[in-house]
Amino acid sequence: MEPAERTSPEVSRNELQAMAYTDQLTGLGNRHRLRDKIRSLAAERASDPAPFTIGLVNLDGFKPINDLFGSVAGDEILCQVAHRLNACIPDGSTVTRYDGDEFAIILPLVFERVGAERVGQMIKDVLSAPYDLGDRNVRLSASLGFAVHPFSGADMEELLKSAETALYRSKRRGRGHVTVYSREIAQEMKRATQLEQALRNAIIADTVDVHFQPIVRLSDNRVLGFEALARWIDPDLGFVSPAIFVPLAEERGFIDTLSETLLRKAAEATLAWPRELFLSFNLSSVQLMDPSTAGNTLAILNGVGFDPRRLELEITETAVMTSADTAQRIISELRDAGIRISLDDFGTGQSSLGRLRDFTFDKVKIDRAFVSSITTDKTSEHIIRAIIAMCQGLDLEVVAEGIETAEEAALLRGLGCGMGQGYYFGRPVDAAATLLYLQRHHHEFAVVDRAFA
Ligand code: C2E
Ligand code: MG
Ligand code: MG
Repeated sequence: MEPAERTSPEVSRNELQAMAYTDQLTGLGNRHRLRDKIRSLAAERASDPAPFTIGLVNLDGFKPINDLFGSVAGDEILCQVAHRLNACIPDGSTVTRYDGDEFAIILPLVFERVGAERVGQMIKDVLSAPYDLGDRNVRLSASLGFAVHPFSGADMEELLKSAETALYRSKRRGRGHVTVYSREIAQEMKRATQLEQALRNAIIADTVDVHFQPIVRLSDNRVLGFEALARWIDPDLGFVSPAIFVPLAEERGFIDTLSETLLRKAAEATLAWPRELFLSFNLSSVQLMDPSTAGNTLAILNGVGFDPRRLELEITETAVMTSADTAQRIISELRDAGIRISLDDFGTGQSSLGRLRDFTFDKVKIDRAFVSSITTDKTSEHIIRAIIAMCQGLDLEVVAEGIETAEEAALLRGLGCGMGQGYYFGRPVDAAATLLYLQRHHHEFAVVDRAFA
């Protein structure tokens, strides 16, 4: 009895430890095993300075498959992925399940970028073969990120963070990419972090500004409203384009603060304009995934005393696609309050026509890419013609973006395009200059502006 009493707790302790290090679904090691392995490998390599590599593998589009076919099918795919990874990795390597549909691999004998890329490519190919779910086959791709020790991180945390950054880059480039963390990426990250700091400070100091660009009726060039565009000039970095800092604020999680500040400023400036003019404001795709967006937007308008019926929100197709249900709900809430919705950059996204049926929009903005080639390229003209006809059928207003010449304006007018926006009618300028613009152009714009006729 005594020996039994002595050994059985020992056994169960070992078993418990094994369980704590094992992923129950796939039988692979879990993230504790991974951390342990990296730690001991790093310690080992302290005396033998040969590098080693870790990789993260994330399945693309796994969540929709899980939602569509159920979690049993999802689990089955994860097990097949685990099996394939185990079968294909080089000798001496370890696969672990890192998190959900993410796996981590430790490659003790991969020393540099080219080697990591080669393994990455191979894993990518292996995982792209169809998965057998009994009654159906499913195809998935995978994105990969690698980091080489010690260049991409001397300790475990740093190394994992570098691999995560590399993976994030792969995801951002689209599906099925392989990225190895590099000195260039490290520098870019540093720059992005500096930019983030400067932008956060600018928001606190209230130095991010908003400019306004006129949107006119093409038949008589009358100003109908303005689009608000964010402007930021940093004392050290100089002018930074919103095409850079808006995505940065999205990525670093403070787009809501930035956007709220901008909307408040834009709405306040708009109060000084003639009441019939609308304000068009860009909503970020991240905001369309956040259920609090509608409430926050209305609270800001309420605080400023701005009539929601004067507001249009510009959204893009990608925004609507990423989380359609939430986006749908936010859009309905906003429209119920009288806010109109424009589909921005139309024609460049992936699912244009279907979205027009599924969502309720009020206006479509034809992307500058088509407008700028309309006078030289017949195809662009045909596309614009088709968009205009379709919008007429669907009872949607149309704005052509990026009109730079009288010729383009005349052509679009001839095609029956209702509204236009672009440098030809006015560049984006600050609130004070917008008031001057209105004094000069608003009431008698059509008469004053004979040059356009
Ligand atoms: P967008 O919403 O499509 O805005 C139109 C862009 O085209 C603006 O660039 C505008 O200055 C530019 N543009 C207008 N007319 C012409 C023209 O005739 N020729 C040319 N070449 N360009 C023209 P901008 O201001 O650099 O903004 C870039 C993008 O940044 C915007 O594209 C929008 O997606 C985003 N953005 C700007 N402000 C905000 C904001 O307050 N919030 C959010 N979420 N995004 C913003
Ligand atoms: Mg816009
Ligand atoms: Mg646009």
